[in-house]
Amino acid sequence: MGSNKGLLIVVSGPSGAGKGTICKELLKNNSKINVSVSTTTRLPRVGEKDGINYFFINKNKFENMINNDEFLEYAKVYDNYYGTPKEYVIENMENGKDVLLEIDIVGALQVKERFKDAVFIFILPPSLEELKSRIVGRGTESVSDIEKRYGSAVSEIKQVIKYDYAVVNDDVPTAVEDIESIIKAEKCKVLRNYEEILSKF
Ligand code: 5GP
Repeated sequence: MGSNKGLLIVVSGPSGAGKGTICKELLKNNSKINVSVSTTTRLPRVGEKDGINYFFINKNKFENMINNDEFLEYAKVYDNYYGTPKEYVIENMENGKDVLLEIDIVGALQVKERFKDAVFIFILPPSLEELKSRIVGRGTESVSDIEKRYGSAVSEIKQVIKYDYAVVNDDVPTAVEDIESIIKAEKCKVLRNYEEILSKF
């Protein structure tokens, strides 16, 4: 059972909570979930590929896309723009496919305004100390970037109240299982299935 429209799953949380790792693992076991590739003005990190990790573009192009209303949401995160291209998400959802967005909190709250029935999942670190050691341990950011990311974590975590679910990322497989359970439960919600139920009985 399930509605004709795909589920929009929004995963966010502070930098270093482990959203990226969790989403990667979730997608490995759930090939039917489609992930939206974001557009960014940030420079690629070593090993990142255009069109796979992000669509890497310059600020001018990004601002043109904003003016042409090509984003479902966008935000300036740590001095760079990040945005979700609208077309891919809408097309997949209309075709009944589930779409995953891994985005920051400002962007997630924009999506909430537009898609009331999307599912909002907040990834929490087990502690602030662990959050910092994960950001440092990634070794991909400069010292000032680490400070910026860590510095905004507490105020970001306070936004958890605006989400539907909170998942603590202490152990990645457990966090992935939690998200799979959330998705299963969401798909059984009466309101998502009411028309189909009525049509059958
Ligand atoms: P990073 O530079 O580490 O790849 O990402 C920085 C932050 O931007 C992360 O919190 C990530 O979730 C967020 N982000 C990635 N793509 C998007 C997007 O399309 N929109 C928004 N609002 N945030 C994004």
